[in-house]
Amino acid sequence: MRDMNFDVVVVGGGHAGTEAAAAAARCGARTLLLTHRLDTLGEMSCNPAIGGVGKGHLVREIDALDGIMARAADAAGIHFKLLNRSKGPAVRGPRAQADRKLYRQAVQALLAAQPDLTILPLAAEGLERDAAGRVVAVLAADGTRIGAGAVVITTGTFLRGEIHIGETRLPAGRVGDAPSVGLAVAMEALGLPMRRLKTGTPPRLDGRTIDWAALEMQPGDAQPEPLSWMTERIGNRQVECGITSTTPEGHALIRANLHRAPIHSGQIQGVGPRYCPSIEDKVVRFADRERHQIFLEPEGLDDPTVYPNGISTSLPEDVQRAFIASIPGLARAVILRPGYAIEYDHVDPRALKPSLEVRAAPGLFLAGQVNGTTGYEEAAAQGLLAGLNAAALAGGAPPRSLGRTQAYLGVMVDDLTLQGVSEPYRMLTARAEHRLLLRADNAGLRLTEQGIAWGCVGPERAARHRAFAQGVAEALARARAEGGTPAALQAAGIAINQDGRWRSLLEVLALPETDAAALDRAFPWLAALPAGIRTQVEAEALYAPYLSRQAAELRLIEKEERASIPEGLDFAAIPGLSNEMRQRLGAARPATLGGAGRVAGVTPAALAALAVHLRKER
Ligand code: FAD
Repeated sequence: MRDMNFDVVVVGGGHAGTEAAAAAARCGARTLLLTHRLDTLGEMSCNPAIGGVGKGHLVREIDALDGIMARAADAAGIHFKLLNRSKGPAVRGPRAQADRKLYRQAVQALLAAQPDLTILPLAAEGLERDAAGRVVAVLAADGTRIGAGAVVITTGTFLRGEIHIGETRLPAGRVGDAPSVGLAVAMEALGLPMRRLKTGTPPRLDGRTIDWAALEMQPGDAQPEPLSWMTERIGNRQVECGITSTTPEGHALIRANLHRAPIHSGQIQGVGPRYCPSIEDKVVRFADRERHQIFLEPEGLDDPTVYPNGISTSLPEDVQRAFIASIPGLARAVILRPGYAIEYDHVDPRALKPSLEVRAAPGLFLAGQVNGTTGYEEAAAQGLLAGLNAAALAGGAPPRSLGRTQAYLGVMVDDLTLQGVSEPYRMLTARAEHRLLLRADNAGLRLTEQGIAWGCVGPERAARHRAFAQGVAEALARARAEGGTPAALQAAGIAINQDGRWRSLLEVLALPETDAAALDRAFPWLAALPAGIRTQVEAEALYAPYLSRQAAELRLIEKEERASIPEGLDFAAIPGLSNEMRQRLGAARPATLGGAGRVAGVTPAALAALAVHLRKER
């Protein structure tokens, strides 16, 4: 038996684990990443794409804290699209389809270049606690004991994972990988509340057997916008996607075989993702729809595999083959690998603090799909936060967290730890009540300074960020100070209401139909601004009136977030709280009065009783 020691040990080399390990090491913690196989570090288990609406916001936030996901996606990207381009900046979502192999290579190269990070191909089988209940070591399958100041578990769909294809069931973490059973047992022994969820993936097709000429093709953006702020330009050749759809014949085939679909036959008990349903689910739930759109996404530049986005399924293989043949353009398409569903254990995230540390097992952090989320970006963002916190704990620094007014990452962690999950959680812009503030375009301005203070942002990004932030501040100050009377603006070719009121340039920029060329002529310094700075000035102009109206509300939220609730508070001992309120608050264990107000079902009367109690205790 070997014995090793690290400040931070991360278990799992998926999107959460790689980001956690990189973040802990960036903070200076001596970090070990344990994962089954080195060649699957950065593996995309499902769709070959990073970002999108809501998810793209998370990727930009990861980037703002100097994480690796956005840089890897830029290095591997073969089709970029800014989703919702015609809508306001708050809901625009940057997305990149990636060459699956290049993405893995990029993640592996970024990790290899990270000082203070060691990676070993070992499975974790157990956890060791000290007499005080603190997790102090990871026990590996080969008998190695690895002592740790903090441990982060990011095992994705692997805990007691089981694949379903029709009537066939197979223990697996994902296709081709064994499940993690020993670790699941060890986590259960810690008393963690474990539940079952499921997710699924579509069959992969051989692109050489698709009739592309019969399909509508969709190019990416003519000028691909990088996901990372540190990427100067996208270097890869860009490819198009095909668009097709299911047919009424295909739907009839699925209906006739529902008794063989594990999610309908009762073979699968776990709940699947609402926003990413299987095709058999869609056919049942939206029975009146004759077609469902399918995007045919190439998985790589030198790989013929195509990912048909929109038809994840666990129907038996023979039904999958007949169904694929019913789709226009796919009559002769060969299936390289059938679709499948996977059921796995996850932990009820209400067992976690806002730092993602397990409340009942100090020293242990959880991140990613194991917390009941779905998606690479959700996993990576949690991984980054858990990695920062593991390094902080190991180094004796206070916990790090982000609030709902600061980041989508803050919204997600708040939702998870207070409300728990009843189905795989996915990031959506609708979940963020302050989304005018939390834009994908201003993630750096919102978070990089905080990241510098936490020690997770390198000097190159820090210098670039500070120069940019100063440029934005100067441009905004100038746009507030300069302007003109209606007569002067009119004379410059800028149409404006002739009410005699002087207007700042910021106000003029917010007007919907202002002639951009006339503005640039009247204020040549505006035209000379670097594009990124101008975007910030325009977004500020657009949203400033709404944001100043929200200012009082934001101040109140911040005050409530400062009213912390002691960790071991006995809710049963608070006078005036009903049994139901005690139960709800006891299950979620909010860290602040603000958090208590967001626990589903907690009444204003219960909040008032809690506030009075906290005031008395202080
Ligand atoms: P993973 O990426 O799964 O990584 C887990 C890592 O942990 C792996 O590297 C594994 O080797 C390692 N590991 C596990 N146990 C141990 C151990 N004991 N010791 C050492 N290492 C260990 N997301 C969507 O958004 N939409 C979808 O449609 C979708 N469909 C999916 C379909 C399938 C079949 C699967 C498998 C996943 C799907 N996902 C989907 C989810 C997406 O893949 C995950 O959300 C994301 O990969 C989670 O990242 P993670 O880091 O939490 O876990």
